[in-house]
Amino acid sequence: MEKLTELNSDLTTYPIAETFHSIQGEGAWTGVSAFFIRLAGCNVGCPWCDQKESWTDKTFPKYSSEMLSTKAQQANASIVVITGGEPLMYNLFPLTDKLRKLGMKIHLETSGSYPFSGNFNWVTFSPKPFKAPHESIYVKASELKIIIADQKDFEWAEKQKSKTNSQSINFLQPEWNSRTSSSLIYKYICKHPEWRMSLQTHKFLGVR
Ligand code: SF4
Repeated sequence: MEKLTELNSDLTTYPIAETFHSIQGEGAWTGVSAFFIRLAGCNVGCPWCDQKESWTDKTFPKYSSEMLSTKAQQANASIVVITGGEPLMYNLFPLTDKLRKLGMKIHLETSGSYPFSGNFNWVTFSPKPFKAPHESIYVKASELKIIIADQKDFEWAEKQKSKTNSQSINFLQPEWNSRTSSSLIYKYICKHPEWRMSLQTHKFLGVR
């Protein structure tokens, strides 16, 4: 049985938009050395998405769990972040099993719009109003991160927080191109201390 799991794990491939070593720019792990694996493919359709080139999975090469694990190991970062695109469009058990066998700490960044899969040390749940989250994500979230583009997003944020497990850390993050969302969040958090602000520090630094 063990052999079969290993075989499946090695044969599973994923469309990969890019892999890179940087620091985690957002949320509770901001500033930590991180190796990013960006899976291609997303049909959530956020109008302000900064990864639109990763929406298709057709034009990107496929990598096996084995190849991705080797790249991650060579990077020697503190954490491996599986992001997208929308990573939960794929079965993430083979990849996370492989990374875990190498002793890596694995984080997920997801909109939660597909059934949960994989074995993670940390789950960043960033739901989007453009495609409803799957119910399986709410117990899994380690942090909830809501992108605020305008005032109406606070209502969405509260609705998502009410469904998410109580251990989750709650972040509001300004939409990068919005001129007003930072000050809206600032004022909101002063009145709602259960929320924290997350900033895209990598963009301020001019790195990925
Ligand atoms: S879920 Fe993420 S990758 Fe998909 S459209 Fe929204 S921001 Fe872009």
